[in-house]
Amino acid sequence: MSDWYDESLHAGPDAPGYRQGFRIDKVLHRSKSGFQSIEILESRYFGRILALDGVVQTTERDEFVYHEMIAHQPMMAHGGVNDVLIIGGGDGGALREVLRHPVDKAVMVEIDGDVVSLSREYLPNLSGGAFDDSRAELIIGDGFGYVVETERSFDVIIVDSTDPFGPGEILFTDEFYRNCRRVLRRGGVMVTQNGVPFFQGNEVSTTAKRMAPHFSDVAFYGCVVPTYVGGYMSLAWAGDDANLRKVPLADISARAGSVGIAGRYWSPEIHLCAFVLPPFIRELYASGRNEARATPVPN
Ligand code: SAM
Repeated sequence: MSDWYDESLHAGPDAPGYRQGFRIDKVLHRSKSGFQSIEILESRYFGRILALDGVVQTTERDEFVYHEMIAHQPMMAHGGVNDVLIIGGGDGGALREVLRHPVDKAVMVEIDGDVVSLSREYLPNLSGGAFDDSRAELIIGDGFGYVVETERSFDVIIVDSTDPFGPGEILFTDEFYRNCRRVLRRGGVMVTQNGVPFFQGNEVSTTAKRMAPHFSDVAFYGCVVPTYVGGYMSLAWAGDDANLRKVPLADISARAGSVGIAGRYWSPEIHLCAFVLPPFIRELYASGRNEARATPVPN
């Protein structure tokens, strides 16, 4: 067995032709669920790595970056979250970070039960007991179908999905965003995993275009996750109140202090500057938003 594992996300025929390799000690698990291939690898530097369909989802060494940013950014901006919906997130990292806040309920809808059970077995530190928290409600099912059918509503929706192919593809559609709008409470906010713009720039423009008809405030924020190759990782932000992105530093700091959260990546200062986009990403966002304006909204 080669002691290198290559991620092929950007190595396909019409992709940039770039791949990253991990020196690994052991393949701890390899299987195919009804939805995707699941690999769990042991590496010296990154610890344990979860890959789905050959795409790195999370590693023990750098998972804190993404899970803090996808959870605390909306939670701290809102400041009074009771009910959270997480779609995807089978490894449990986002759920762990959400439950550091005094929420009433965190509903998690994950399509692949194997990801949850294997993450609990091989990557227990990611969920850190979150699945056993009495406030957590795990539903094994398609997140798309859930937002179409549920009568429940939420203050924050976190879409911690795979990339827009395979089971995750439907979570990047106009129809999905329309239904998320339906279950998101007034003054609430939805954030979604939105790829690495340097390699997946069309995800920013497409998401901006598809969210615009349903949310009056659409934006992006970023963080740098070492194993999401290509530099800046974008997360989409959608709600109905732009002021949620402009909460003063003092208030964000006070909220973090009151819930006792000090991140290793997320901080009140990072919170504010994460919304500042480099021009090349602003342009991608503007092109999607302008396309939306030019496209009549189907009634
Ligand atoms: N942090 C990772 C990233 O940025 O790519 C995502 C991690 S998490 C493992 C992604 C999860 O989304 C997977 O467990 C996958 O099974 C789940 N997923 C994909 N499509 C889904 C769907 N339609 N409904 C619910 N969960 C879905």
